Amino acid sequence: MSASPFASTVRGSKASLVQLPSVDRALRLPGVRTLIEQHGRTFVTESVRAMLLSWRESTTRGEPMPALDADAVVSALSARIEERVASTVTPVFNLTGTVLHTNLGRALLAEEAIAAVARAMRAPINLEFDLDSGGRGDRDDLVENLICELTGAEAATVVNNNAAAVLLTIAALAAKREVIVSRGELVEIGGAFRMPDVMKSAGARMVEVGTTNRTHPRDYVGAINPKTGLIMKVHTSNYVVTGFTSAVGEEDVARIAHTGGVPFAVDLGSGSLVDLTAFGLPSEPTPQESLLAGADIVTFSGDKLLGGPQAGLIVGKTELIRRIKKHPLKRALRVSKLTLVALEATLALYRHPEQLTARLPTLRLLTRPLAEMELAAERITPALAQALGAAFVVRPEAVHSQIGSGSLPVEILPSVGLVIRYRREGKGRGRALTALADSLRTLPIPVLGRIADDSLILDLRTLTDDAAFVAQLSQLPKLLSHPVAP
Ligand SMILES: *Cc1c(COP(=O)(O)O)cnc(C)c1O
Repeated sequence: MSASPFASTVRGSKASLVQLPSVDRALRLPGVRTLIEQHGRTFVTESVRAMLLSWRESTTRGEPMPALDADAVVSALSARIEERVASTVTPVFNLTGTVLHTNLGRALLAEEAIAAVARAMRAPINLEFDLDSGGRGDRDDLVENLICELTGAEAATVVNNNAAAVLLTIAALAAKREVIVSRGELVEIGGAFRMPDVMKSAGARMVEVGTTNRTHPRDYVGAINPKTGLIMKVHTSNYVVTGFTSAVGEEDVARIAHTGGVPFAVDLGSGSLVDLTAFGLPSEPTPQESLLAGADIVTFSGDKLLGGPQAGLIVGKTELIRRIKKHPLKRALRVSKLTLVALEATLALYRHPEQLTARLPTLRLLTRPLAEMELAAERITPALAQALGAAFVVRPEAVHSQIGSGSLPVEILPSVGLVIRYRREGKGRGRALTALADSLRTLPIPVLGRIADDSLILDLRTLTDDAAFVAQLSQLPKLLSHPVAP
């Protein structure tokens, strides 16, 4: 231990405030000079000041004085600085089994989209500049043609997310008017997006028709009046009503709307751009189908099944899209250049559907072959078992992943999970599993699984770098090698 650089060597609780170094003195310590080279004088000075202040306060409260030798001061300061400079955003291993996890950022972008974003960040781009005429352009032009080509729509626009797309559509087409919607479709998406509230925010009056389980064509017909601005169907993406049910199909609603002279909008939520059954996945509606069925406007997310950046796509009839783009809210809800270029690059991949599973991470993960996950399980299990120690048993087992983000809540994808159980029977199992889940989150790349049926499941469908996963296992806190007391 090095000698205290600060006058007396009184240590611990016996020390008094007098022993605290001055800021200048602390800054002259050799170890602190190294920190200044790394982080700059301003930042380190401020950190020293904050540290000394907190020591002064804790000592005044009667808490023991921290060690004041040079090594202790430098290491306390360095720990404080590390904590402050650590990014609050960190990559994680999403082994929850939910591929499009809203809380973990939903879709992972394709390399093409990542490259496009990097390019657009480094250099100016023709965001709103028409290179042919030399005049002002419209940022939607960068993607509109591509969206129309892929969906068959006449026109398209893009906003910040699908919630914004729905809000803007209603505000532009039905403010101060009535919007007819089935009682079976008054969806809450999560994160405080509830259809009735959105209607209200958009300044429209919601007119509910039918009942929770059954809505008939006559319900829509009977609700149309001169104040009707829009008929809406909402894809009930995150729940299903089964049993004695009846809903009116898009074609029928379109016919009713058009006979009544009102536009018909469909909020698809996820809206896959391709027929997922062609990839062996459960069926999910596409905007193409809704448009063919007669929808005048279709809204869907950019970062759900489409596999792109967070965005809300609005597609449909030219005249309606024109009204939507003209609404003042459009300016407030518009997307950044980074979103636009990422979206363009993602959409471009759809021109080559045969390469889609290889190039679009969302589809690659959703269609990942079981054999590949089984091999990964074999490779990883021994290392994980060793890191977990004797208290836990780990076994590869068949589990089920889900798509997530409200898509197909009841459809599940067969997957392979590393299933971890506490070795002892009886009480304490829940606590042990929670403690293990907590520890896994403290790793340099936090590992997130899910707890179900007295086990912690690490779903391998979304593990794409098992070397990185295994490499950090040795850092799993050692407390786990001792069984938790019951
Ligand atoms: C997800 C979803 C939304 C909201 O989309 P965001 O892109 O998350 O804003 C709206 N409607 C439906 C039906 C959805 O599934």
